[in-house]
Amino acid sequence: MPTDPSTAAIARLRGEFVCAATEAGFLHAQARTILRDLRRALILCSLFYMMFSVSDVLALGLAGAMPSLLARCAVPVLAYAGLRHAWQAAAPVAAAYRVASTFTLLGMLTYMVVAWRRPADTLLHGTSVGLMAVVILIFIPNRLRTAAAIALGSSLVFIALAWCRHLESTRHLVSMTMLILFANAFGAVAANRHARLWREQYRTQQVLTNLSVRDPLTGCYNRRHLNAALLDGEIARARRYRLSLSLIMCDLDGFKAINDTYGHHAGDALLRGFAHLLQAMTREAVDTVVRYGGEEFLILLPETRLDGAVELAERIRAAFAARRVEHGDVVLATTASFGVVGADFGAGEAVTPQGLIAVADELMYDAKRGGRNRVRARHLDPCLARVA
Ligand code: GH3
Ligand code: MG
Ligand code: MG
Repeated sequence: MPTDPSTAAIARLRGEFVCAATEAGFLHAQARTILRDLRRALILCSLFYMMFSVSDVLALGLAGAMPSLLARCAVPVLAYAGLRHAWQAAAPVAAAYRVASTFTLLGMLTYMVVAWRRPADTLLHGTSVGLMAVVILIFIPNRLRTAAAIALGSSLVFIALAWCRHLESTRHLVSMTMLILFANAFGAVAANRHARLWREQYRTQQVLTNLSVRDPLTGCYNRRHLNAALLDGEIARARRYRLSLSLIMCDLDGFKAINDTYGHHAGDALLRGFAHLLQAMTREAVDTVVRYGGEEFLILLPETRLDGAVELAERIRAAFAARRVEHGDVVLATTASFGVVGADFGAGEAVTPQGLIAVADELMYDAKRGGRNRVRARHLDPCLARVA
């Protein structure tokens, strides 16, 4: 189960959320940005990589440079195929990271061919390898530890090759080695900082989002969220996939008397207790509990037929009637009344959010008039209408 992103810990070294599900949620939210950055990075890298073919031709002549040119050509081809794959993949971020790893690994491999064929330019190649390590670490989107392994691994291979050939003075080779390791180290530090800042920013965003869509007293969603995102979206989804959808409207009975007798703090405690019960008895990440008014709550139940919603309302009603909430020295208890409406979109009903809420509200008041502590329900289709 994902931890609340607003409080989730970030691993210092790898710069990812410690909780794998939270990390997956973060990456899912960033998928478009990651794909866009990957496209920019691969196009730019391929362009620069091909532009440097000029130096191969100048150093080796056209015929001599042919193997290097062929090796270089593999990079844009790979970029094109990889980008197509990532944009069409069902799990785009995982695909983007696979593409980034393959691209950088093969890019560095082809560069070893280029460098091997121009031994006189070892020091220049060393500078390029350092720069390429930085690009792999901070410019091409990938997991930090994968990028670090590819950058450092290929840098070490290049350093080993340069030392084996030993065409430069030891002094120059030492400087080149230090330069490449320096680029790797500082690239990794910068990438780590960027990864952590990105996640911290996401965490702050989650806090603000939560503040704007949740009611501070009960932690339930507020009306703004219901109106802005929930109902229209869920009704559209139900219509698209021909699903059922139910709504429960509920209101505490005799709540004003509790406020008047024990004070508003006691009333607040009872409200919180009711809200927690609603959240505990509904499906996490599927159903939504909204504080609709003062002591009035609305539960949105996607993919739920009326009979299931009535059963749930009945269970909540019985559980709340039996519940005792302790507040200081007093033990508080009351009941709640429920209005349940169900709509079956498979039958092509023309349902509006306002229509659904109005019917649930009407049924809830019907439960009040009927004596309170009861459930009233109706299917929205007039042919199937029934009052429980
Ligand atoms: P009924 O059984 O008909 O629903 O009667 P009731 O007393 O529950 O309903 P009424 O609408 O008369 O009173 C609702 C009360 O809820 C009035 C209002 O002061 C109180 N209320 C609204 N919001 C809050 C809140 O956040 N905290 C507290 N403690 N009370 C609240
Ligand atoms: Mg009430
Ligand atoms: Mg009320």
